[in-house]
Amino acid sequence: MKTVKIHIVTPDGPVVETEADMVIAMTETGELGILPGHIATVAPLQIGGLRIKKGNDTKIIAVHGGFIEIRPEIITVLAQSAETAETIDLARAKHAAKRAEIALQAKKDEASFLSAELQLKRAINRINAAENRF
Ligand code: ATP
Repeated sequence: MKTVKIHIVTPDGPVVETEADMVIAMTETGELGILPGHIATVAPLQIGGLRIKKGNDTKIIAVHGGFIEIRPEIITVLAQSAETAETIDLARAKHAAKRAEIALQAKKDEASFLSAELQLKRAINRINAAENRF
């Protein structure tokens, strides 16, 4: 069976370099299932879970924005931060969610509100990935 390479890279370095039967990503316009041989495309990503399927195994990666570049033989994700489900510190993500909720309730200026909203989205994404909820 044909496979496609998938590389996920952040400013801290590579997070994933593997082969997949199928990759499912959350782009800004919705969920995209990518098979080997997909036509070349670039799309912005949402804060969301990226699934890498190989045989009966599915790996979940929490990806926080960025871009996906698809070529027929290789998929590259460039994100500000990304973690595999096993490397997520669940307690840290739950604390981050609490802090973001408190900041949202404080109703300060718009910039603080938007930053807290994004922090809450990242924290929920990490919690979902760590608890295998994609
Ligand atoms: P926090 O407030 O807990 O730092 P954050 O959403 O502000 O969360 P980011 O700015 O997205 O954090 O990421 C900073 C760095 O910390 C990145 O390298 C990211 O992979 C890592 N990181 C953040 N939260 C977690 C977590 N819960 N588990 C593992 N790594 C994390």
